[in-house]
Amino acid sequence: MNSVTEYNFPNNCLIITSKGAKSRGWLDYLKLDNFHLFDSVESNPSIETVQKIISEFENLNFNDIIGLGGGSSLDVAKFIGYKLNKRKIMIPTTFGSGSEVTRISVLKVKGKKKSFHDDKILADIAIVDPYFIKSTPIEIIKNSAIDACAQCTEGYDSKNGNQYTKFLCSKSFDILEKALIDEDYEKLALGSLISGLGFGNCSTTLGHALSYVFSNEGISHGHALAFTTAAAHHFNNSIFFERFSNLVKKLNFVKIKLKQDLEQATDLILMDTKHLDNNPKTVSKNDIMQLLDNINSGKIFEKFRS
Ligand SMILES: [Zn+2]
Repeated sequence: MNSVTEYNFPNNCLIITSKGAKSRGWLDYLKLDNFHLFDSVESNPSIETVQKIISEFENLNFNDIIGLGGGSSLDVAKFIGYKLNKRKIMIPTTFGSGSEVTRISVLKVKGKKKSFHDDKILADIAIVDPYFIKSTPIEIIKNSAIDACAQCTEGYDSKNGNQYTKFLCSKSFDILEKALIDEDYEKLALGSLISGLGFGNCSTTLGHALSYVFSNEGISHGHALAFTTAAAHHFNNSIFFERFSNLVKKLNFVKIKLKQDLEQATDLILMDTKHLDNNPKTVSKNDIMQLLDNINSGKIFEKFRS
């Protein structure tokens, strides 16, 4: 707790965050003297936002980029640090993406979510401080927490995993599950961090691949995963299906439905080999159509209710 206040921040950095950072007192909490600020990262951010920030700030004098916020702000900050070759200091304020410890940045390109993977995207410094959870609305806590749960359980099943990632993934799910059942939300910070260290070294799988088409229609990342990861766990016979489903039920997520044509969505999902190649079971076009149909018709949802 309060680890941010113990860190000696460098002078003259660029802070990348979202609207609300000021009003929630986050900037005051960092106690910085002089800094440049970009505080309009949107959720599900686009590559255009990255380009806009680069052209606005690249000629100014700074050596460090501070990413402050949820996964969206962190993904943008990391990607810019990588492009401009600056030191990257990441401070998550919601606990789910694990972005502070992964080599992944997810950005929208031409309106569609795409994940970029590169060791150079990895943060130089991550400061994890559960202080921020106090000012976080419960909806955001829920969405972030289920993302962390989806990531570690998909990571556990990933073909790209090993004993080390499996240990981290299962350990983090235990912590996250207990924190959610006990409504002890400060513990989510540690669970999400360990989830990031686990899945970040082995990748997520089918649940994440299925989720992006829903997010392209505006459904938040965690909300989509509540259903797409549950459907994927069922398909994969994951040992986590029941425990994950019980958390979705406890958190009371509203059913989701894809508006676009299922076959078109399926073709887009099939291109996401980064996730699908690591899935423990081979996935065919028909399988994906069926999974999307199950999510749309609420069959997955009914399973939780029964
Ligand atoms: Zn995720």
